[in-house]
Amino acid sequence: VTDWQGKHVTVAGLGVSGVPAAKVLHGLGAVVTVVNDGDDERARAQAAELRALGVTVRLGDGATLPEGTELIVTAPGWKPDKPLFAAAAEAGVPVWGDVELAWQLRGPDAAPWLAVTGTNGKTTTVQMLASILKAAGLRTAAVGNIGVSLLDVVLGEEQYDVLAVELSSYQLHWAPSLRAHSAAVLNLAPDHLDWHGSMEAYAADKGRVYEGNRVACVYNVADKATEDLVREADVEEGCRAIGFTLGTPAPSQLGVVDGILVDRAFVEHRHKNAQELAEVSDVNPPAPHNVANALAAAALARAFGVPAQAVRDGLRSFTPDAHRIAHVADVDGVAYIDDSKATNTHAAEASLAAYESIVWIAGGLAKGATFDELVAGAAKRLKGVVLIGADRALIREALARHAPEVPVVDLERTDTGAMRAAVREARRLAGAGDTVLLAPACASMDMFANYNQRGDAFAEAVRELGAAGA
Ligand code: ADP
Repeated sequence: VTDWQGKHVTVAGLGVSGVPAAKVLHGLGAVVTVVNDGDDERARAQAAELRALGVTVRLGDGATLPEGTELIVTAPGWKPDKPLFAAAAEAGVPVWGDVELAWQLRGPDAAPWLAVTGTNGKTTTVQMLASILKAAGLRTAAVGNIGVSLLDVVLGEEQYDVLAVELSSYQLHWAPSLRAHSAAVLNLAPDHLDWHGSMEAYAADKGRVYEGNRVACVYNVADKATEDLVREADVEEGCRAIGFTLGTPAPSQLGVVDGILVDRAFVEHRHKNAQELAEVSDVNPPAPHNVANALAAAALARAFGVPAQAVRDGLRSFTPDAHRIAHVADVDGVAYIDDSKATNTHAAEASLAAYESIVWIAGGLAKGATFDELVAGAAKRLKGVVLIGADRALIREALARHAPEVPVVDLERTDTGAMRAAVREARRLAGAGDTVLLAPACASMDMFANYNQRGDAFAEAVRELGAAGA
């Protein structure tokens, strides 16, 4: 679409993506109607702002397709089975998400996108990638699902050489024409299945990130489902499948040899068939899953032509976001680690694999997950468990089945203050050399506003312990 003048566009959903989308489209001359399910105070304030510009807003009715609609631009979270989309399909009206809109509105000389998706590790990998690209002297930014609007970046004044783009499965679902320079699917585990309808549909949406790739489709050698998605993708001629592995890399892979990150896919001539990029100890933190993230970031950067030295420099200068395996403090020889961002079992599995003798603080909202596999896999490394939150019984029962000897303290609490009690119990169970790990494997909203608040409560409780001991 190049001519927006007079085009009837319906924006589905106010909020973080809908309001800016409506403003931009209105500014381009489109006739914009926003439809929104809710009619609360926040929606009314946003509606008032848009109406003042001349945008039509319908509150409390997100189901009816406005007459004459030629295109829907939806908030990525709207479920595909909504009646609005059924009506759109019947009327032959295309549906775009926020990412598709940004992709369509980018300028002719726009920076290419290096895209990252997967169940876990997206934000970390995109930030590592941006750090590496910057170390190579490139003008770049980490954008997308990470909280920086692609629309702002695409339409903004600032010039970029390349973008490091985090994409969620929802965003990919609604981005039919997106074509990345190169893309990575980090891993695939059941998540958000209520939205997508099935694991197959979820995987297919993730796999969309590879469609039309020009240089490299980066997959996880340890996760065959990601490789299958590469095989099914329709890519540009010459685009290569590049694997990353924590083991010794085969040709066309990046991997680890004797504590060194090694590239056997994008080797500069004078290095024959393998090139050293960085040391495992350059990765922060050097936990296995995070080394995998670093390899994926390195693969995308190398696909873009970044030299080895910049991979090392970029990894060294990278600091992870809060609540992702953050070391809070050592108290009496016990390390306290905040991985509040481990909001599903796949993420918790990765952090439990990173430590030896663990007192595990877990529980919260399970979102339909089961815990048998997680608990069975971690049983040997558990010294004790403290449970909090609404769905703790599910974890307690899995522990009884797979780790009956491990002492479990079920606090039977879902109030915000429970975290303090949990940390005290954990301290009692832990001895010098152990790790107390908050990796809840659950969402936080039963007790906290979000995972940040949950991690902050943990850190505060740990600091109180330290102060009391001093
Ligand atoms: P996302 O953006 O996909 O949610 P993050 O980078 O924010 O991912 O990491 C979220 C959590 O997932 C981390 O706190 C960690 O527990 C876990 N994690 C990170 N990388 C991986 C990985 N490669 N495999 C499994 N779990 C991971």
